[in-house]
Amino acid sequence: MSFESFKLHPQILSNIHGLGYETPTPIQNQSIPPILLGQDVMGLAQTGTGKTAAFALPIIQRLIPGKRSCVRALIIAPTRELAQQIHDAITELCQGTGLRSMTLYGGVNINPQIKTLRTGVEIVVACPGRLLDVIQQKAIQLDKVESLVLDEADQMFDMGFLPSIRKILRFLPKKRQTLLFSATMPPAINELAHEVLDQPITVEIGRVAPSSTVQQTLFPVPQHLKAELLIKILNKTPIESVLVFTRTKHGAKQVALKLEKAGFRAASLQGNLSQNKRLAAMAGFRDGSLQILVATDIASRGIDVSSISHVINYDMPSTVEAYIHRIGRTGRASKLGDAFTLTTQDDMQLVRKVERVLGNKIDQCKLDDFNYAAAPTASSRVPSPNEFRDQQRRSRYNSRDNSRNNKTVRES
Ligand code: AMP
Repeated sequence: MSFESFKLHPQILSNIHGLGYETPTPIQNQSIPPILLGQDVMGLAQTGTGKTAAFALPIIQRLIPGKRSCVRALIIAPTRELAQQIHDAITELCQGTGLRSMTLYGGVNINPQIKTLRTGVEIVVACPGRLLDVIQQKAIQLDKVESLVLDEADQMFDMGFLPSIRKILRFLPKKRQTLLFSATMPPAINELAHEVLDQPITVEIGRVAPSSTVQQTLFPVPQHLKAELLIKILNKTPIESVLVFTRTKHGAKQVALKLEKAGFRAASLQGNLSQNKRLAAMAGFRDGSLQILVATDIASRGIDVSSISHVINYDMPSTVEAYIHRIGRTGRASKLGDAFTLTTQDDMQLVRKVERVLGNKIDQCKLDDFNYAAAPTASSRVPSPNEFRDQQRRSRYNSRDNSRNNKTVRES
């Protein structure tokens, strides 16, 4: 199929070609026709499959002829990064159509967002919390919404956003098109899908199998040598841009500092950073001034850099789905990518599960010139997530200012 076969507006086609997209991806082929017809769609697709354009293109096509200066499409996403990225993609895809998109997310001043809303926009890309704030301030009218997109619904559920989504739904017209995208289908999302979708068309793309363009390798290593092995691997590997995953925010910060010390252009992306620092880290990674970004799962959601050459799991994630999400960050849009995972003895049970889902064993690699028997040194250690939790607990008990130390910081 070609993009021409969807009979999209010439301006949209010109924008698609301007972005260098030649042929639609499988999810675009399957989703664009029903969305153009106004049908509800449930898309089971992992990130990196082209799902943003799969919903954005037909929505833009449907918005071009209608009324302007009122919110007609609402896209809800779990994290600021993802919301920003969807908005950026939409802005490129609707160039020259006169349609306007904006983002609503927390961590930045609400007033400029309300001001932009007043100028009249047709597309709003929002995170649930800030959208509810804006609704409560009566600064947004949602009664003209024709299309609602719930993107990365499983992640919204993991982050505890489903009650907010249900509240938001009360402000939307009953008669509307709803599109729900999720990489996995936990029971809560299945239930939500039944509630919000009307006779949906189900589109399922590569739900469990990661893209075939990703080469996966395991690097078994004792916990205390992970940082050293990571540096060794990075020194041996021709890298373009590398996304390193840690389980905790603290781990992300520590690993990034160690990489910087070892001479790499690295930074961390985690929920404790200010919004400006997060945006700077993302921009640096995108423009290549940073080679390595070290992130937690939640902070990494939505990072869309198509040239990520390597995903490295510094810590094994806690579920098979998270593993597949993570490695889906490389090998995007047909580019080749590598996914390396540093594994300790404790991770082997989950590794077996991943292998069962993938249907094959993952290659293991041991470096000849690395001393796997080395004793821990003070500088080589980044505490494991469990050790880090214990340390935190101890420091909380020891601290006089308990109230400050007990404060938890939300990731997104
Ligand atoms: P997504 O799954 O929406 O995050 O998209 C992943 C990447 O694929 C993004 O960098 C898109 O710009 C890119 N992309 C989307 N559709 C196409 C296409 N038809 N051809 C080539 N690249 C695409």
